[in-house]
Amino acid sequence: MTTVLTPASPLTAADRCDRCGAQAYLRVVLASGGELLFCAHHGRKFEPELKKIAVEIQDETGRLTTTTASASDDER
Ligand SMILES: [Zn+2]
Repeated sequence: MTTVLTPASPLTAADRCDRCGAQAYLRVVLASGGELLFCAHHGRKFEPELKKIAVEIQDETGRLTTTTASASDDER
């Protein structure tokens, strides 16, 4: 189990994936004190490795759930 803490500072559109430059939805804090940013795609891809080296993973991929929902249903 990886501890997911309440975000201290939410990721913004200015935060970019270290791998592809897309908007970042995961912030990984390393034991060394460094930080890595990943988009949802790369966050999932590297998740097994990240869990070994991270002391904290801030996961905001939940904000992406609208991709499969119908936009017209937002008003409910
Ligand atoms: Zn990426």
